Amino acid sequence: MATCRYGGCSETARSDSAWCILHLDFPKEDDPEFTRIRDEKQLKTKEKIKGDDLNFEGTNIYSVDASDLSISAQNNAIFKNATIKGRVKFERTKIEKDASFEGAKIEKNASFAGAEIGGKARFEEAEIGGDATFAGVEIEGEAWFKRAKIGGYATFAGAQIGGDVRFEETEIGGDAWFGGAEIGGDAWFGGAEIGGDAWFRGAQIAGDARFEEAEIAGDARFEEAEIAGDARFEAAKIGGEACFEGAEIGGTLNLV
Ligand SMILES: [Zn+2]
Repeated sequence: MATCRYGGCSETARSDSAWCILHLDFPKEDDPEFTRIRDEKQLKTKEKIKGDDLNFEGTNIYSVDASDLSISAQNNAIFKNATIKGRVKFERTKIEKDASFEGAKIEKNASFAGAEIGGKARFEEAEIGGDATFAGVEIEGEAWFKRAKIGGYATFAGAQIGGDVRFEETEIGGDAWFGGAEIGGDAWFGGAEIGGDAWFRGAQIAGDARFEEAEIAGDARFEEAEIAGDARFEAAKIGGEACFEGAEIGGTLNLV
């Protein structure tokens, strides 16, 4: 029996295709085969997760629930370039190394609420159709969301991030909530487009807050935030108010 054509995949290809069940494209939703293929994909996805195999690179799958699991460094969570029709849940999950979702397309919500990530959260150029929930997440390394597109809100309220937070040119349809978040490095939002508020009330940023050329449709709320470096908003467009009451900024505040 032939193995799946996807590079690095060791699953058996289906008899009628070059791909395994996970790398196979979905038929159209009105195709009579859709339900059968979806159920087969779901079953295989659950089986793989249960067997501590979290390598889903390039797969076409329906939904992922890996909540309350512990994922060791050997079984890295890899969803690079995967397409997920439904939602993704990693709530309270401990991931020893990176959470790799570069270029992934998640059509509904992604929730990593209360998750612990030992390495980086990598979501460069990922697309999340719904909300991105990272409230209370602990990330040892950096959070990379460069050029990602999030249809709903993005919440990192109360998150602890050891390194930089990178949202350059990221599009967020709703609010970006970082209230009470602790960021060990810089917060980069240069050229980001935020459809709602940029909410950083009480956030602690050990480096700079960089929002040059960012477009914030709502308010920029940094009341009581502590920014050890500079707060730079040159050429940023803020539709609502810019509030920095009680904020402590170690460097300079550049609003124009
Ligand atoms: Zn495959």
